[in-house]
Amino acid sequence: MSQNLPATLRMARWYAPEEIRLDSVELIPPGPGEVLVKIGAALTCGTDFKTFKRGHPRLIKEIPGPFGHEMSGTVAAVGAGVARFREGDRVVVGNSAPCFKCFFCQRQAYSLCEDLQFLNGAYADYILVPSRIAEVNLYKIPDTLPFVTASLSEPLACVLNAFEKVAPKPGETMVLLGAGPMGVLFVQLAKLHGLRLIAIGRDPEKLQNLKAFGAAETVSLTRDERPLERAKALLNEGRGADLVIEAVGLPEMWSLACDLARPGGRICFYGGCARGTEVKLDTYRVHYEELQLFGVFHHTPAYFRQAVEYLSDGKIRPEGLVVGEYRLDQIHEIFRKGQASNPLKLAVIP
Ligand SMILES: [Zn+2]
Ligand SMILES: [Zn+2]
Repeated sequence: MSQNLPATLRMARWYAPEEIRLDSVELIPPGPGEVLVKIGAALTCGTDFKTFKRGHPRLIKEIPGPFGHEMSGTVAAVGAGVARFREGDRVVVGNSAPCFKCFFCQRQAYSLCEDLQFLNGAYADYILVPSRIAEVNLYKIPDTLPFVTASLSEPLACVLNAFEKVAPKPGETMVLLGAGPMGVLFVQLAKLHGLRLIAIGRDPEKLQNLKAFGAAETVSLTRDERPLERAKALLNEGRGADLVIEAVGLPEMWSLACDLARPGGRICFYGGCARGTEVKLDTYRVHYEELQLFGVFHHTPAYFRQAVEYLSDGKIRPEGLVVGEYRLDQIHEIFRKGQASNPLKLAVIP
């Protein structure tokens, strides 16, 4: 074990809505099975901005709570019994691990695990990876893969999970609702699958960005005249899309997702809405027109591994997605800015 670890580390922690602090906390050396990783890059995520504003029922379990969950770095020390990693290895860290024992895990529905262990605290100098995550969701990365790119593994794993649910076929038309950071990943993946992607969102600038990454057409709900008619006309001669991905997380967009699907179309609800919200369901369309509706949450170890491979092979790229780099001591600035301008992704380099 390394002798030159510092006694303390800096860690951003959530205290209350819109109150985070960069605390100095004691560095705990790794116990059996654990791996201590020196953060190379952490990425902001829409979830983090939501958490900043109002906390998070599953991610912030204690107060003050460490946060940030998209990360990669260098192994600084390993605990007893860790054979797969050595000090100095460059790694990407997954933010969860299922238990592999419960009712859902036995059915390979790992994202529904009743004891899904989450890991937060990417906005820090170091992170201690618990043994379960070190076993199944910690990967060495090639020297050629920058930390910033590697840290996209977590969001990409979620996107891969959504794609598998709706099983796209080459030549199909996919509607993407939402032009946020996930949109950039969906567009790149749609291109790899040979899909024709129509992006629908609000911000014309962000839509333009999606076009640069391969969206065939874009429709702005705020800028274009009669946006829905315009969108429909682009979808199988007005029949609707083969596939629709809702990546906003608003009930009205969930409804719109259903409206834009063709008979037999597959709809994936990727964006999580606030608890307690509901949408109306047109039973005629679901039954007589055989709409297929899919919910999707988070990722599984298999998708995380696949995401690491895609990024290592350069199939998915960070350009147009990670739009700024900051130091850890600028964490307040990042979240103030995030409030005001809703950026794509920002990298935090300690
Ligand atoms: Zn995320
Ligand atoms: Zn489980």
